Formats: sequence, structure tokens, C-alpha cells
Amino acid sequence: MAPSPILRFAPSPNGRLHLGHAFSALFTARATANLGGTFLLRIEDIDPARSKPEFEAGIQEDLSWLGLRWPEPVLRQSARMTVYAAAAEALKASGLLYPCFCSRREIAAAAKASDPDGAPLYPGTCRQLSQGEAVERLARGEPAQWRLNIDLAARAAGPLRIAEAPAHGTDAAWSEAAPRPADPLRWGDAVLIRKEAPTSYHLSVVVDDAAQGVTHVTRGLDLFAATDLHVLLQRLLGLPSPAYCHHPLLLDGQGEKLAKSKGSPSLGSLRDGGEDAAAVRRRLGFE
Ligand code: GLU
Repeated sequence: MAPSPILRFAPSPNGRLHLGHAFSALFTARATANLGGTFLLRIEDIDPARSKPEFEAGIQEDLSWLGLRWPEPVLRQSARMTVYAAAAEALKASGLLYPCFCSRREIAAAAKASDPDGAPLYPGTCRQLSQGEAVERLARGEPAQWRLNIDLAARAAGPLRIAEAPAHGTDAAWSEAAPRPADPLRWGDAVLIRKEAPTSYHLSVVVDDAAQGVTHVTRGLDLFAATDLHVLLQRLLGLPSPAYCHHPLLLDGQGEKLAKSKGSPSLGSLRDGGEDAAAVRRRLGFE
């Protein structure tokens, strides 16, 4: 029997939600309803410097206002660091991770290409360190992040495919899902353990989608390429791969992705300005 469909909306409490988040949450809720599944809210607060309790409260208030409901308790990633650390240990034990002592500035200076997010592609500097030197620098307490040796990892995993469904307007077309090949190599040696937390976005999202039994992932096209890395980690950790649907991003008048940093109005400010939730849902195409 196929597992019962579970979908999730997984915002990071780094700011107030705007219309782009509302579209993504409503898209997920609609896909959930169409599949007769369960909609989960997950709070992705692994970044201690940027996550704020007031933003998390705002997320819950805004989503309830939009008419969304989810089971409690809500999974909060900051409470799961030991689970992520255990997954990272398993990858370390397979010899797939290595410590990296490079600063951002050193990486920017040495990088010759960019990753799919446009960040400098790690040139592999610390991959060349002898084990003796790495152990000694760690023992000295030098701050390190841990990177996936992407060549070893891709070889260990073998060919990977993603079950990708197209988005038609506000609908995920699961019946049209087709396998596409994943190309995780374009991420280079991605960071799986940061200096400030024993995890990274890529590691925690994969661990939690599996822990929560997520069967269908709906999220913006800005994460399309990240899925290549996620299916690789799923294979390495022995976790199932959900189906994916990446929806187009809502753009502002200048054709740019909506973002709080660019002054896109928050849902809270629309609400305070007298806009009602039905009008927001209609404006986004969900009535
Ligand atoms: N937390 C991520 C974000 O706010 C989304 C993660 C995901 O949907 O996989 O961009």
C-alpha cells in the first residue's frame, strides 16, 4: 500500500512572510488537499543568528490567517541538532566528509566557478590536507566546517533520478511526474556541517523530510538545483526520496524574486492595512 501523502511548508523564521511565501504555502495546501494528505508546518531555524521567536510566531499567525491548519506539535529544527549530528557522523564514518578550515574570503579568492546558487564553488583546498594535519588542526580547536567529498559521494551513490512533477499555475501535476537525472557534482564539495551548527540546510531538510514521512515536496524553483544534492544525501543515508514539484516564484514589478530585503510587503502589513485573507488568496490565484 502506498504511504499516505504527507506534504510540508518549511519556512525559516528569519523575517515576516510575504506574498511569495503565501503562494508557496497555499500551493502546498492545495496539493495536499488534492492528494487527500496531511499538511505539516516545519520551522527551519538552524541559523541561530537569524532565527527569531517573534518571526516564528508571525509565521503561525500569518498562515492561520490565510486559513491553513496543521497538526501540533510543529517540528522545530533547532531541537533536532543531535539527530543531524548522528546523520553527519554516519557520513563521516563512510569517509565522505572532510574538515575545511578556509575562510569565506579565501574561498572567494581561490574559486574559479560558481555553484547553482551563484556562490563561489569551493576549489577543494582542504580536500588535499593530510589526515595528520586535519586532525592536528581540529585538536588545536581551529574552527572547521565539514564538506561532502562530492566525487566520492557521487561514485558511492551511482546514477540518481528525481521524480519531478510540473507545476500548472497553482497546481502540482503529480500525474505528469517524470524522472530527471540529478547532477549533484555541480554543487562541488557542499558544506554539510557549518561552523555555527552541527548541520546545514541540505542535511537537515533531507533528514527531516524522511523523519516526517514526507512523500511529496512542493517548494519554489529557487530550490530546483538543491534537489540534486538532496537525492544524493537520501541515497547515502539510506532514506527514501519523495516526489518533487518546484513552482515558479512570484516576481515583483521589476521581474525580481520577492524578498523582504527588497521591500516586498509582509502579510502582516497587508493585514494591518485592512486587506482580508480571501483577497490575498484570490490575488494569488487560489479561489
Ligand atoms: N526553509 C527553506 C526556505 O525557507 C525551504 C526549505 C524547503 O522547502 O526545502 O527557503
